Amino acid sequence: MNVHENLQHISSRIEVAARRSGRNPGDIRIVAVTKHVSADRIKEVLDTGIEDLGENRVQEMTTKAELLPPRARWHMIGHLQTNKVKYVVGRVELIHSLDRWKLAREIDRQATEQGIIVPTLIQVNVSGEDTKFGISASELMDFLAALQDLNHIKVKGLMTIAPYVDLPEETRPFFRELRILARRCNEKLPDRSLELLSMGMTNDFEVAVEEGANMLRLGTAIFGARRG
Ligand SMILES: *Cc1c(COP(=O)(O)O)cnc(C)c1O
Repeated sequence: MNVHENLQHISSRIEVAARRSGRNPGDIRIVAVTKHVSADRIKEVLDTGIEDLGENRVQEMTTKAELLPPRARWHMIGHLQTNKVKYVVGRVELIHSLDRWKLAREIDRQATEQGIIVPTLIQVNVSGEDTKFGISASELMDFLAALQDLNHIKVKGLMTIAPYVDLPEETRPFFRELRILARRCNEKLPDRSLELLSMGMTNDFEVAVEEGANMLRLGTAIFGARRG
């Protein structure tokens, strides 16, 4: 199956999951995760009209950005080291992986220097697994409150990575929790700005859609299994 066929198949699965849960499929955006994928294959995705591309490594993103047309919108979805922030600020559509105060301060500093406001999502570790990055659910409100003082960061929503499980259905509680967290935080935020829920990957995106995801990060489903 080629990228185009894979995307048609994904779209119909999104549509069914959206309808099942009374949602509009048009509200759900796909971020094509391009890690380990060559620029040529990424072009096939751009040709289908998807222009949101996700990378979890800064170096890979900047290399590919040079090879691809400027209409590509890059999303930083992986753990971000503070010394790499300068390569990301001003170049990405959205940082999904804001997961600590030190990183927030560095993003804000670089953004202030460039005179821009950087849209971000807060990565939440809803499953509480030690191996995962992210703010814990219990610390989220305080973190958001602290971020209100950083004028060059705009928090637009939340992101999570569900545990890898055999049965996608088992991810439901984690996605549901992220949705509820966003709602609770919005009740306390003056501008109710948490609109985006970046959740759902190849293994579990239909469940994520049913639980309110509006940004899916899909790699394998689009490009096939990664080698190496
Ligand atoms: C690799 C990756 C994805 C995509 O995973 P697939 O299972 O290939 O769809 C999504 N989000 C993050 C943070 C990733 O690193």
